[in-house]
Amino acid sequence: MNSSLSVYNSLKGEKEVFKSLVSDHVGMYVCGPTVYSKVHLGNCRTFISFDLIYRYLNHLGYKVRYVRNITDAGHLENDADEGEDRIAKKARLESIEPMEVVQRYTVDFRNIMAKFNALPPSIEPTATGHIVEQIELIKEIIAKGYAYEINGSVYFDVLKFNKDIPYGKLSGRNIEELIHNTRTLEGQSDKKNPQDFALWKKAEPVHIMRWPSPWSDGFPGWHLECTAMSRKYLGDQFDIHGGGMDLKFPHHECEIAQAESINKIPPVKYWLHANMLTLNGKKMAKSTGNNILPEEMFSGSNTVFKKAFSPMVVRFFMLQAHYRSIVDISETALEASEKGFNRLLEALQTLKNLTPSNSTTEFDFKSWVARCYEAMNDDFNSPLLIAHLFDAVKFINAVANQKQAIDANDLHDLKNHFDAFFYDVLGLNSSDRETTKDDSQLEGTLELLLQIRNKARASKDFETSDLIRNTLSNLNIQINDAPEGSSFKIN
Ligand code: AMP
Ligand code: ZN
Repeated sequence: MNSSLSVYNSLKGEKEVFKSLVSDHVGMYVCGPTVYSKVHLGNCRTFISFDLIYRYLNHLGYKVRYVRNITDAGHLENDADEGEDRIAKKARLESIEPMEVVQRYTVDFRNIMAKFNALPPSIEPTATGHIVEQIELIKEIIAKGYAYEINGSVYFDVLKFNKDIPYGKLSGRNIEELIHNTRTLEGQSDKKNPQDFALWKKAEPVHIMRWPSPWSDGFPGWHLECTAMSRKYLGDQFDIHGGGMDLKFPHHECEIAQAESINKIPPVKYWLHANMLTLNGKKMAKSTGNNILPEEMFSGSNTVFKKAFSPMVVRFFMLQAHYRSIVDISETALEASEKGFNRLLEALQTLKNLTPSNSTTEFDFKSWVARCYEAMNDDFNSPLLIAHLFDAVKFINAVANQKQAIDANDLHDLKNHFDAFFYDVLGLNSSDRETTKDDSQLEGTLELLLQIRNKARASKDFETSDLIRNTLSNLNIQINDAPEGSSFKIN
């Protein structure tokens, strides 16, 4: 493949020309969700970022094997080695089987990603489906001398590893700093050193998610599953490993240590990290409650935004920022994205009906295409690609108004390229335009009904006001009367 794609490699802290290990093929692993609750929009942003990357690599002609795991065991509270398994805790609180929790939120995650038009990965392996591989991996690490067993649990010996191979390459943390910053309370852990991390944990009697192993009935450590599954499906060395920025340390650092302890070679050529979505300037997170769920956004039933936004508008909003910058979600920004997205949709329609002019094209079409590719080749710069699409929109509208000309060949190419960037690369579609339009029509009609009802109430015509309230209620539309005015809620 002879593309001039460069990617920002977190391992080097700079952009590098992308060259896959095997020509024309790309192996890409992305850490997937821990399926103990619904994904919030922040999680979705990371997966949409990697969907863009996957789509562009495909568009360039690479045969991509995209592996994105489902974490359904081993991820403890606070990302630490102590505490309850997140899935087991949810199962206990709801008195259901852990696998019911897993099933419910895996299905939810897939549905949401489909709404965002994210392509499914090539393989979606689960941690519980790879316990055997994880046990084998632990045996290998022990055999190399970088892990030790204590009381049925197995820990990775970070200090020993660091003597042979430097630990902390990805996050830039050195071992002295780590030793200085990590403390454990007396008696809380069997580890030799607080920097060590669990590969296998002996299960307490109450811990319901457990498997037999040579060391104890227990469960694998969270970092281990990604090394086991990436190795199994992509080999000892592969091209791209991705995830959210917050996974760099400790998760990805530990993955590197696990893999290098066996092979002494870096497992991943390019580490790519997507940046965070914030709400009110703070990271969206499940634990703090500072988050919004996708369906709350699509239905408008949330306390953050006054109106609903469709999945494509939200996707477009996210792609209007580079995947490595922080983005704050707000009503104003979403409204601007909605307008922009609708302009693109209208241009697509105009383009479809455009007829070629007799004169030659008055637009440097070749250089426009080159600029679009340059944007994406520069570490997947989707906001710049979108800006170039808007340049083309101006030209399309000018041709439609007979102010500019386009010849038949260029028109054909423009349609193809515009479609390819819009549908294939950015992964946008026009299917929810109708919904958006209908939403605003419905909202306008309901506002009118509210006004009529207010007038009826003011003139004590309660028959009319009750008729409106009850008819809407039968349609699952609730009217709320408050001192500051009446409002409606569509259930
Ligand atoms: P989890 O299910 O907690 O393991 O998270 C799944 C993915 O979502 C990880 O790659 C996280 O880095 C990512 N993530 C979590 N919070 C955010 C956020 N606020 N913005 C973007 N990505 C996030
Ligand atoms: Zn992972």
